Amino acid sequence: MPVTVVGSIAFDSVRTPFGERTRMLGGAATHFALAASFFDDVRVVGPVGEDFGEAELEVLRRRGVETSDIERVPGGETFFWAGEYGWDLGTRETLETRLGVFAQFEPKLSAGARESDVLFLANIQPDLQRAVRAQCTGARFTALDSMNLWIETARDSLVETIATVDCLVLNDGELRQLTGRPGLLGAAREVFSWGPPGPSVVIAKQGEYGAAMITADSYFSLPAFPLETVVDPTGAGDTFAGGFIGYIAAAGAEAIDEELLRRAMAYGTALASFNVEEFGTERVARLTGAEIAARVRELERVTHFRDAPIELRG
Ligand code: AMP
Repeated sequence: MPVTVVGSIAFDSVRTPFGERTRMLGGAATHFALAASFFDDVRVVGPVGEDFGEAELEVLRRRGVETSDIERVPGGETFFWAGEYGWDLGTRETLETRLGVFAQFEPKLSAGARESDVLFLANIQPDLQRAVRAQCTGARFTALDSMNLWIETARDSLVETIATVDCLVLNDGELRQLTGRPGLLGAAREVFSWGPPGPSVVIAKQGEYGAAMITADSYFSLPAFPLETVVDPTGAGDTFAGGFIGYIAAAGAEAIDEELLRRAMAYGTALASFNVEEFGTERVARLTGAEIAARVRELERVTHFRDAPIELRG
């Protein structure tokens, strides 16, 4: 089931305790598309500026990503984001965000994009996300990511947009901020009430602690894949989403049930773990399917335990 993603295609300048990169290829849609490309056909929708070159497009094309819906705006400037991480990579400060060509973006999807069965609205202004969602009338599974910037500056629009998708993917802290609920389960329940139809799955991304998935009647969580060295967490959330949603898309007509969603969580977790090992898209761009499969098996092993009941003192 082909996947369409709309969201930022960017240049990122990033400083971490392990080094820095200026104007490397980034953006939520880019990270998502590279990850999802291991599972199914992926199409990226979004604008770039005149400063965006063939070399950047090639990174996506080499992974088979369809780039014909990436519109190059004459005289425009590509979305730019700069950020700096703290010493343990647990905190991040945004130094600069320049919307560039996204400020005037009016999404008009091609026939191919409109017909996608699976749609991911990566992090971008919620009005734009909703305009895209409205054009994909036949999508079988839709998901959305966002961030504190839009919670703070466009909350009503964001809530309205969330009500139109099946799955909300958000950072743990931002989920609490968005709903005003201090606990994860309460926050998810609040999101489920934003319909009809409203989301039926909420994923809370928890950085180095992994991710939790909440549905109306279930809870599941996985830790992040244990790594000795993390170099740059930028795009980990989008890479997780690409693995998670890519896996769902690859399941085709199979029912999207709890078991499938749990396996999708494992693939998202595995993909994200590769992303953080190097700067930007560097690691995922040369990843192999065999490496992903090995990490999913290892994740299954490290998260497994079997209870042996003992007599507990009452
Ligand atoms: P993540 O680390 O998963 O939060 O994603 C980081 C990516 O999001 C970077 O590649 C940025 O280019 C992109 N990004 C940062 N801020 C924004 C924003 N306000 N809107 C859209 N994309 C953004």
